Amino acid sequence: MTAPVLIVGAGIGGLALAQALTRQGVPVRVIEKAEALRPVGAGLILAGNALRVLDRLGLGEAVRAAGHPLSGAQLTTAAGRPLQTLSYAASGGAVGLHRAALQGILSQGLEAQLLMGTTLRALHPQRAGVEVTLSDGTVQRCRAVVGADGLHSSVRALLFGAVVPRYAGYTSWRFVVPRPGPAQATELWGLGCRLGLVPIGPAQTYGYLTVNAPEQPPQGAKPPGTVAEVLAHAAPFGGPVPGVLAGLGADTPVIRTDIHEIRLRRWSQGSVTLLGDAAHAMTPNLGQGAAMALEDAWVLSQQMLTANDVPAALARYEALRRPRVEAVQRQSRLVGQAGQLEDSALRALRDLAMRLTPAAAAQRSSQGLFSVNLDG
Ligand SMILES: Cc1cc2nc3c(=O)[nH]c(=O)nc-3n(C[C@H](O)[C@H](O)[C@H](O)COP(=O)(O)OP(=O)(O)OC[C@H]3O[C@@H](n4cnc5c(N)ncnc54)[C@H](O)[C@@H]3O)c2cc1C
Repeated sequence: MTAPVLIVGAGIGGLALAQALTRQGVPVRVIEKAEALRPVGAGLILAGNALRVLDRLGLGEAVRAAGHPLSGAQLTTAAGRPLQTLSYAASGGAVGLHRAALQGILSQGLEAQLLMGTTLRALHPQRAGVEVTLSDGTVQRCRAVVGADGLHSSVRALLFGAVVPRYAGYTSWRFVVPRPGPAQATELWGLGCRLGLVPIGPAQTYGYLTVNAPEQPPQGAKPPGTVAEVLAHAAPFGGPVPGVLAGLGADTPVIRTDIHEIRLRRWSQGSVTLLGDAAHAMTPNLGQGAAMALEDAWVLSQQMLTANDVPAALARYEALRRPRVEAVQRQSRLVGQAGQLEDSALRALRDLAMRLTPAAAAQRSSQGLFSVNLDG
């Protein structure tokens, strides 16, 4: 029997890769450290490039049905005065949905391949393939190992040693409010903080806040976010914000995450590679992290299907993906730096520049972001 491809992490990228390979008859095994795929998380925007990958996986319709169609995105001042509007129509539409809904759809049909509550203990490269030791002590031979285990990737640590994620200078709070908000994705830019509202269902709005703050200590359990923190940081925002946030209950789950980036010189070594946040976590300012993990998964699956030599396929995958991912990561970082400005004079200049940028120019610059060549 052919040795399976071991995918570490049943997040968005890992499950998408498992779907792509399984549909082509390639044996896979997915290990996930969580004991169960629970409906946790908040919302996501999936832009046209993410939807194109999901269409290729045969899951686009299910995702569109589970989410809310987004016609466009609007940037406004903290008071809700429009600064710039972007239409998603020309780039294949976009969907706002709950992250758990996406994970549920991506995991369908993979029950037999999924091993929950399991991590990777050791990697032993062989002349062909890799031998792995799992946390339950099992030793297994694999054709390849793919680390899709997120920002704090253990596969990355086994390959390249400790890599300290770079803190972007701001932290985030995410939550879902059971009431309708603006009809399109809306982000309000304040001083050193932004607040976003995204419809993810007819009566569900995903909200997020990004606020300049010192980094939380890397070690130890971090306190969860609270509704009180969200309300305190949301105080300067007007427009639709007070109406939507009035729907927050005292027990609404709030996720607090410091925003980090991962920048690596290499993603692959022999028959082991990384994808998604494990390889290139990026700031969330363009809503492209999950989209990049999906694109990675598709391109990697195609390279693994067409090449006999696994290390060559992984090297080609990395060569194809790196320029695109690095460009998106850079663009996202710049948007974050502009969005998180703390100086009121600079903010006034920024807002003026945004208001004066013709809609067509803003649309053109986003077009490259949402169009991708998935065929190498
Ligand atoms: C505030 C915020 C807003 C965002 N908004 C958007 C958005 O609108 N659109 C978008 O496209 N992206 C967005 N993102 C980014 C997106 O969430 C991530 O880029 C995406 O989830 C990455 O997918 P992944 O599969 O690489 O990692 P993850 O989804 O993080 O999955 C990693 C998986 O690996 C598992 N795991 C971890 N360690 C181990 C281990 N040792 N062994 C086994 N399993 C392990 C984890 O439990 C998890 O299931 C946002 C991010 C943030 C922080």
